[in-house]
Amino acid sequence: MTKYIFVTGGVVSSIGKGITSASIGRMLKNRGLRVTMIKVDPYVNVDAGTMNPYQHGEVFVTDDGAETDLDLGNYERFADLSLNKLNSITTGSVYGSVIAKERRGDYLGRCVQVIPHVTDEIKEAIRRAARDKGADVAVIEVGGTVGDIESLPFLEAIRQFKKEAGPGGSLYIHVTLIPGVGPWNELKTKPTQHSVAKLREVGIHPDILVCRSKSPLSQEMREKLSLFCDVDEEAVIESMDVPSIYEVPLIFEREGFGDLVAKRLYLYDSKPSVADLQEWERVTTAIAQPKRTVEVAIVGKYTDLRDAYMSVIEAIHHGGIANLAKVNLRWVESADLESKPAAELLAGVNGVVVPGGFGERGVEGKLEAVQYARENKIPYLGLCYGLQMAVIEFARNVAGLEGANTTEVDRDTPHPVIHILPEQEQVEEKGATMRLGLYPCRLAEGTVARDVYGEALVYERHRHRFEFNNQYRDELAAKGLVISGTSPDGRLVEIVELKDHPFFVGTQFHPEFRSRPNRAHPLFRRLIEAACANAAPSKRK
Ligand code: GLN
Repeated sequence: MTKYIFVTGGVVSSIGKGITSASIGRMLKNRGLRVTMIKVDPYVNVDAGTMNPYQHGEVFVTDDGAETDLDLGNYERFADLSLNKLNSITTGSVYGSVIAKERRGDYLGRCVQVIPHVTDEIKEAIRRAARDKGADVAVIEVGGTVGDIESLPFLEAIRQFKKEAGPGGSLYIHVTLIPGVGPWNELKTKPTQHSVAKLREVGIHPDILVCRSKSPLSQEMREKLSLFCDVDEEAVIESMDVPSIYEVPLIFEREGFGDLVAKRLYLYDSKPSVADLQEWERVTTAIAQPKRTVEVAIVGKYTDLRDAYMSVIEAIHHGGIANLAKVNLRWVESADLESKPAAELLAGVNGVVVPGGFGERGVEGKLEAVQYARENKIPYLGLCYGLQMAVIEFARNVAGLEGANTTEVDRDTPHPVIHILPEQEQVEEKGATMRLGLYPCRLAEGTVARDVYGEALVYERHRHRFEFNNQYRDELAAKGLVISGTSPDGRLVEIVELKDHPFFVGTQFHPEFRSRPNRAHPLFRRLIEAACANAAPSKRK
């Protein structure tokens, strides 16, 4: 029987509900339990794929090609899981299936209503995701803030779970803000009291409060929260800001949060809950005590919205963890490279990453960054659009194909070295129609890619419409562009690299999605290793 943990948020958004949920997943994993994690998003979009990164941050892609909320990335990284389509539930997806059933006549003439039909659909979607993974425990994060109109059907559905899951079968955790006010930054519990009252209005009584605050909770405040919110004192968990998100699970463990969850859910009949923290401690020690520091530039067009690059940022840090290096990030707006020289904006960086992207803006700036990294032998990793940029730059500046471009930017380019995938040509609908999810990639002997992975066949996640144009393959290869990874049939170029360069690799896929703090993705591990080597000579000076 799966047990269910529901995580809701109160007072304000962006208080770290995702990291809290992911940390709960980690704590369950530390106890050897089979865990799955589900994000419920009250927006009407069927998935996150059609949303602008400015609205929503990164679109996280799963193995099976679902375009999901970035919180799924945190779940995968913290609890070391591979999630799928079933782990992301939205108002759009729920109503989509209710309406499809209604049209099929499945409701046998009944009037279809929010309760019970929509709530049943939500509950079934949650159970389906848990069954799919044979989970001992499913952690379900409800997006939005308690009190939002959009969340109501979801809150009603999770309320109904309590009775159905039976005693010890479910747990309600409320993540809330304890703001500091006035000149002395006095912590206030009132917003939390109101938020819990709001939850109780819809019939949910939280079992545990996770209190986000800038300073520690006093004993008196714990008593007050316990009294007014009707939770046990041991269930008032303090959650202060920390330098690295990866510390959160260990801090929670020290507070007894993991044991409390295990106890409340009767996860162990007789023996006490034993958590194995070793693997995670290795991660946090590497972060806390780095042996060296390097600087890596991320050149993109959403640099003022870091959430748009969440998995890229994390994967770079994982590379740092694996090399015992602290990685400082330099954010370079690609459009700025169109007016200021790369030698100025990228001066002194030990590595350059051009992440995924779409459209025209900033493309010429990205090409400047690629050229600078190539010519100055700065380690370079291009991700998806970053591979496409590397190919265009090589075509223009090494192979002499003037005006080379991707047809995404210039339909009439004389040298369309990147063009639309044939299967994409007829596609008109935007939702879930890109080349998405896991595909195999065969690595050529004697290449950097083959060496980095240590395997001949790898699987990586994709999200794109354009690809390397095979008409230019021989010409560019003759000039020195190494095609080190292709689809097994050889038709699609998946990885390009350069010789005579410390590290210059572009991937048509997104390796960042499969990187974990405890298992850095090999390409990011090697990028930071090369960045450390790049930094070393200047240190010796
Ligand atoms: N815009 C490019 C394409 O669709 C790259 C996509 C990406 O970087 N994810 O092919």
